[in-house]
Parts: sequence; structure tokens; C-alpha cells
Amino acid sequence: MSAPLLEARGLAIEHRGAPALRGIDLALDDGGALAIVGESGAGKTSLALAIMGLSPASAVVSGSLRLRGRELVGLPERDWLAIRGAEVGMAFQEPQAALDPLMGLADQAGEAARVHRGLSRRAARALGVALLEDCGVRDAKSRARDLPHRFSGGEKQRALIAMALAAEPTLLVADEPTSALDARLRLRILDLVDEQRHRRGLALLLVTHDLAIAARRVERVAVLLAGLVVEEGPAAATLAAPAHPYVRALAAARPPLGAPRDARPLAPAPATPRASALGCPFAPRCPFAEARCAAAVPPLVDVGEGRRARCLKPFAAAP
Ligand code: SF4
Repeated sequence: MSAPLLEARGLAIEHRGAPALRGIDLALDDGGALAIVGESGAGKTSLALAIMGLSPASAVVSGSLRLRGRELVGLPERDWLAIRGAEVGMAFQEPQAALDPLMGLADQAGEAARVHRGLSRRAARALGVALLEDCGVRDAKSRARDLPHRFSGGEKQRALIAMALAAEPTLLVADEPTSALDARLRLRILDLVDEQRHRRGLALLLVTHDLAIAARRVERVAVLLAGLVVEEGPAAATLAAPAHPYVRALAAARPPLGAPRDARPLAPAPATPRASALGCPFAPRCPFAEARCAAAVPPLVDVGEGRRARCLKPFAAAP
């Protein structure tokens, strides 16, 4: 059996002493799709940044993270330059932050091909135009030199996906690609990610807060809470009948399509990794909590059908 394209084993990240990830195990095969789901602060963006070698300088990364068997933890920046954008493309979440306001959008869309595939500036711009058109930006050729502010929010989000594809990566990391958009546009952008992934045979790591949206577009999901994987398994089965009480609450709290984001957040606010370090991170909010739940972090146990849950009584918790 071949090794996974991406594999995390005991991956942990600390920011100034505060844990963002607390030893997670994950695997993603070539051409597969995995969603990392969680509320703000769960650790999902820390994971995405680690996969791109973009963890902040203050972060302490330990454990193992392998791409095609190559260890990424501790890799020097000069080695990351050949991986980032080339083997792993990342569609960042905020166009305002990710786009250069003084560079034409087509040039930006093709930039990774210029850097990693040796294309001339002219050829990279032509590729950028083609990628923008392929990603649904209209009249990309006549607007090739237009600066980002001349494009709509949806077009800029499409451009971020085009940029991530330019160097023909094998893995696309899409970090909340829809966070700045209204509900209808969010779905269109997710459809675009899905279409590009299938057409190009890419593996996809989708980072999102929305379990239901993720589950319709990936094969597997891993739900993070306070830096821990609390449930992991096939997407459809996990959404249909979550084994972990937190995942069940997360699925039930999803606002209807068209409602403002976070219209029905879980209450109270999520426990921070620091506050919940000693026990189950969901214990303060769990209706099934017992004294033993706060004594130690529960192990991630097999609950059948290729699923794992970090709960002391996953089936008893399921109504
Ligand atoms: S371990 Fe206990 S507190 Fe945590 S989710 Fe399971 S039942 Fe709830």
C-alpha cells in the first residue's frame, strides 16, 4: 500500500506557550479530499499554515508532518520555497490580504508558474488569463492588467483559487475560501474548488467552519476542538449521525442557507485549549459530561465504520 500524500503524526503547535494543535494524526491520499472543520480558535488555520510552511516565527511545531514521505517539520525556508505554491497550492481566505494591490490580477494569477515552472513574464500572464477565465472571471484577457480593486469580491476569491493552481500542485489547501462572501457566492466558490479539484485530479484539504457544506464536497472530515481531533471519519456518515456530542451540536447549530454567518453559534463560547488542557475540551458545554470527563483528555477511539471519536461514551451520547 502506498504512503499517503500528506500525513500528520502527533503534530503539535504552540504559540507563545499556548497550544494551537495538541498532537493530531491525519492522512490524505493522492486525489482524496479531507475537510478540517471547527469553530474559530479550534486550530484549523494553524494546521493549514503548517502545511504551507507559513507558521509564524513564534510558533513551536513538533511531531511529524510528511508530504510524499518527506518530513516538513523543521524544514528550512529555502526548501519550503520549492514546495510552497509548487507541490502545495493554497487558496487563502482573505483576498484583501493575499493580493498585491499594485500588481495586475492576471500577473498575480500566473506568478507561481513564473517562479516554479520558469515561465517568462509574458507566458505567465497568458497563463494567468487562462486560469482566471477557467475559474470564472469574465473578460480576463481585456482586464489582464487591471489591479485587484477593479474586481468584485467574488472575482478576487476566484483569482485566489487560480493563483493556487498556477504551478500545478498535487495538493490544494483551501482555507475558508468563502469567509468574505454572501451565502450564494460561498456555494459557487466551493463548487469551483470542487470542480477544479476533480478536473485536475488534485488532493484537497478544505478548512471550514461548516460541517454540512464540507461533508457534501469531501470524502472524509476531521473535526477539531481546542487543538484536538474530536471526530474523524467518512463525511456523509459523520454528518448523518455524529458520534461525538460536540460534532452533533455543531451540525445542529448550522444556520440555514442565507442567514448571516454565525447566526446560531454554539453557546457558550468555545473553551480555549489552555482552559481545557486537563480534560475533554467539550466538557464545559456537554450535556452528557460526568466527573471523569474532566479528569483527562479522552482518547480517540474507534467507533466503527472507519470512524473515530474522542469521547468516553460516544454512542450513549447519540440520541
Ligand atoms: S468525553 Fe464526556 S464531556 Fe466529553 S464529549 Fe464525551 S460525554 Fe461529553
